[in-house]
Amino acid sequence: MRLATVFVDGRVLPALVRDGRVYALDPSLTDMVAVIERWMDDPTLVAPLTSSWSLDDVRLLPPVWPLRRNVFCVGWNYQAHFDEGAKDRSMPGIQEIPARPTLFSKATLSVAAPHADLPLHEASTTRLDWEVELAVVIGRAGVNIREEDAAAHVFGYAVANDVSARDLQRAHGNQWLKGKSLDGCSPMGPWIVTRDEIADPQALELECRVNGVVKQKSNTRYQVFQIPRILAELSQGMTLLPGDVVFTGTPDGVGNARQPPEYLQDGDLLESEIESIGVLRNRIRRGVVPRPAAAPGRTGAARS
Ligand code: MG
Repeated sequence: MRLATVFVDGRVLPALVRDGRVYALDPSLTDMVAVIERWMDDPTLVAPLTSSWSLDDVRLLPPVWPLRRNVFCVGWNYQAHFDEGAKDRSMPGIQEIPARPTLFSKATLSVAAPHADLPLHEASTTRLDWEVELAVVIGRAGVNIREEDAAAHVFGYAVANDVSARDLQRAHGNQWLKGKSLDGCSPMGPWIVTRDEIADPQALELECRVNGVVKQKSNTRYQVFQIPRILAELSQGMTLLPGDVVFTGTPDGVGNARQPPEYLQDGDLLESEIESIGVLRNRIRRGVVPRPAAAPGRTGAARS
């Protein structure tokens, strides 16, 4: 199944996407977390109703929205990306990928809708960069999850772009929170593809394009720490919950590592694509004020 959160007829709804149409679900399923919990109990209980809309007539929101917790992220999970950063490492002195996954988080309101205009944040950064990543959506709560059990805790997969302000990563003590958490910057979606439809999440082509030019092109098979290991390490003593989102790292080709470095500019079209899931298309805009879900009906991180 492909499950999205949509804004339609003045409401935010979880919905099923099929053949270019968006179908309403049982109204007792008020948000994506409720859908996830029911699907994990019995997928057949998440069935489309007859009311539907053309995909063109709804606004897609981030597929889990609102997020209940920060997005969990893995850094340095593709060797080629680690290597390309060697000359300008934000954490100098680290010569090789650590033995256990490097983990950080992004603020909830940093997540943007799959087709939203993304703010250039010109007052905060001059170095906004791209990072296409496979996102894993947690289905079943768990703590101390064993690698061999990890797949049973996954609900599905989505495309994400861990958009990063490189100068803010360095300006605040070489951390990966502030530089990764600017409002409405990091698109996710366009929907969640449930785990039963992805035969092997470690064999997915992923690509990032800027103005049609391929900047990143790789495959999830090159992840240093694969998803079961990531979930096992992340859940050690720390409970994961249904609807939690994990960004699993970006391959090589980010702008900051290029010679000369490249950063997102006003008007750029950022496209993030993963095989068997879909594509995010976001225009970068100067002066955009993100409208994170502050007010009902303004379920922003959507289009401003
Ligand atoms: Mg990243």
